[in-house]
Amino acid sequence: MKKALIIGSGFTGCMFAMMLNQKGWDVKIFDKSKLTGGGVRTFYHGGHPYTYGPRHFIGPEENMKAFEFLNKIVPMRHIKKMNVSYQQNEDLFASYPMHIEDVKKFKDSKKIFDELDNLPKETKSKNFEEFWIGRVGKTLYERFNKFYNLKAWQIQSNKEMDFGFEATVKRKPLETKSRYEFPEGYINAYPKPVDGYNKFFDVSLSGCNTILNCTIKSVDLDKRKLITDKGDYEGDLIISTISPDFLFSNCWGELKYVGREFYKIVLPCEHVLPKDVYFIYYPNENEQQTRVTEFKKFTNHKSPNSLITMEVPSLKNKLYPTMMKEQVDLADKYLKALPDNIMSVGRMGTYRYVDIDDIIMQGLDFAKKI
Ligand SMILES: Cc1cc2nc3c(=O)[nH]c(=O)nc-3n(C[C@H](O)[C@H](O)[C@H](O)COP(=O)(O)OP(=O)(O)OC[C@H]3O[C@@H](n4cnc5c(N)ncnc54)[C@H](O)[C@@H]3O)c2cc1C
Repeated sequence: MKKALIIGSGFTGCMFAMMLNQKGWDVKIFDKSKLTGGGVRTFYHGGHPYTYGPRHFIGPEENMKAFEFLNKIVPMRHIKKMNVSYQQNEDLFASYPMHIEDVKKFKDSKKIFDELDNLPKETKSKNFEEFWIGRVGKTLYERFNKFYNLKAWQIQSNKEMDFGFEATVKRKPLETKSRYEFPEGYINAYPKPVDGYNKFFDVSLSGCNTILNCTIKSVDLDKRKLITDKGDYEGDLIISTISPDFLFSNCWGELKYVGREFYKIVLPCEHVLPKDVYFIYYPNENEQQTRVTEFKKFTNHKSPNSLITMEVPSLKNKLYPTMMKEQVDLADKYLKALPDNIMSVGRMGTYRYVDIDDIIMQGLDFAKKI
């Protein structure tokens, strides 16, 4: 029987473990935490279910296969969600994507609409700043995107974000109809069970050997061996879901990530945010947080109180790969140097902005090849 070793039991590790196990592999999966699920696991605070960050299922309709796959294991509920952005200068909460009726309420709306009218229909962008100015003009960029992005990525200039923004940018008319996040063409859903995706982790790892509280200290790539604080393990295939620089002991430098501190606060009211508003963006310069989420909206948890979480960007943990060309190139250098039978998958593993739907698609695709 062929042996697979998987580093990390988050959503990606579990998905790939299930695929391998179904094809008859002997699978050992390792995690330094005491529970499986990584960032998508549901925890409880005073009985209120939550995850680290609102991990709803979002994806284009072409990833429907991923939705259907997950829905068979964890029944999903479709959601219709609005996001609002706190506009401090106006003391109002404006819809995001930007809605024309909200922008009309801004004190300087005339200037904003003049700016929008005078924007070229099409322009070229090289970075985040140029991309958004090309889409909505300078003032709306500053109100909704500029400081949010500087905070979110802990950077000095939005020109630093230069991966994925080399594009021909089309002026974007403000939304006039729906205030919902994805009015059409998108799947937007959350698990029905109160414990969120947790059943997925149990189902996917049944039949696998799950080794928790076990830290991988290094990897011997040539021997396909994991060196852990609980001993060494050799396999025919290693699947890593952690940062690729780790596999090479950072020999060409450490990849940059930004993390989050999550503050949990229970408030004495049944609902905190307005109907259909699941979270609020804070795009103002003088506020530390990027986002506040009311979890009940996702989980449907019943209680006279409600849990909100506040996300504050931090460099203390690694969650988001950056969208900087230099960093993506460094990640690709590591990925290209991986020997046969060592794979690096998932969000950290590929250093790409992959979501739950992409991970399932990657896993299903992988299953066809093994
Ligand atoms: C804050 C946040 C919010 C998000 N929201 C959404 C969303 O709403 N919708 C969506 O589709 N996607 C969302 N995503 C993306 C999606 O959740 C992730 O792409 C996905 O969960 C990644 O899963 P993973 O298994 O690759 O990584 P992780 O969940 O990070 O799992 C990696 C695992 O590896 C373990 N590990 C790390 N180092 C070691 C080591 N040395 N030894 C042993 N174990 C180790 C960790 O303990 C962890 O369990 C979000 C991501 C973040 C960061």
